[in-house]
Amino acid sequence: MKAAVVTSFTEPLEIQDRPVPTPESGQVLVRIEASGLCHTDIHAAHGDWPVKPTPPFIPGHEGVGIVEAVGDGVTARAVGDRVALPWLGHACGHCDYCITGWETLCEAQQNTGYSIDGSFAEYAVADAEYVVPVPAGVSAHDAAPLTCAGVTTYKAVKVAHIKPTEKVAVFGIGGLGHLAVQYAKIVGATVIAVDVDDDKLALATELGADHVINAGVTNPVPAIEALGGCDVAIVLAVIPSVFEGAFASLRRGGRLVCVGLPPETDGPMSLPIFPTVLKGISVIGSIVGTRQDLAEVFALHAAGRTRVVAETRKLDEVNTSIDDVLQGATTARIVFEF
Ligand code: ZN
Ligand code: ZN
Repeated sequence: MKAAVVTSFTEPLEIQDRPVPTPESGQVLVRIEASGLCHTDIHAAHGDWPVKPTPPFIPGHEGVGIVEAVGDGVTARAVGDRVALPWLGHACGHCDYCITGWETLCEAQQNTGYSIDGSFAEYAVADAEYVVPVPAGVSAHDAAPLTCAGVTTYKAVKVAHIKPTEKVAVFGIGGLGHLAVQYAKIVGATVIAVDVDDDKLALATELGADHVINAGVTNPVPAIEALGGCDVAIVLAVIPSVFEGAFASLRRGGRLVCVGLPPETDGPMSLPIFPTVLKGISVIGSIVGTRQDLAEVFALHAAGRTRVVAETRKLDEVNTSIDDVLQGATTARIVFEF
């Protein structure tokens, strides 16, 4: 099978011919139809984060495909099912996080395309209990970006407990942001989209954003203050200063939802204590979403309530695609189709 492999943190990915893996007990073998390119894959390939994957490995955690074989003991899934392979590739299933709806915090978790081989390949094996069924009516092309970009922003909206009268600012409109705008609209918020690219802001408007701010031209903090401030700021950008600006644009009682993950070398964000206390600000970290969250994301899409904006590429174009994402030269998501 064809696979895009990270052989070193300093080299481009290598297209290799690998043997098709055999599903072990509890696993399914999935023939991948589509796999989105997430910024996390780029961090994985570059070894940007404190806990690094071990090369050689296959990135990709927005894989969608058809179950072709099942290992011993698999009852949850059957041959022919269309499933998604999300970032949460495996969790223990019995710790306090797992049994209270926070499996994404399980300390024994395995991550697709990071600690276990992912979906930048024609085939992947996955834990049958942690793949998520894709409902009829949702294409592999659309399901792929929903598997990380969708569930991550849906969860960010959920943890912010947004009221319909509230204003939500989304910092960074792209693969994640174009979906965050839609989920914030679904819960009834007034949405402010912030980016440095006019094309992305035009897309945000098309998807329902009420206000747009080009942060390359206008300082978003006074611009959001002029709108009365925001109740929730969802930060999808990967620049620490953007988190600080998002914090500064919050109203009293506001929630800063941190989602984007800058490289560790870019340093921390710094938050002033006085306004945090006096304005009663909450700072929330939100990491991907559970299998149930992803099922809800798919259900919303099947019901026609969200739109996925993605462009299709071939796996051979993986390195130029990474360059395009890093240079912001794509409007939304890149999806490799097989
Ligand atoms: Zn991702
Ligand atoms: Zn657990």
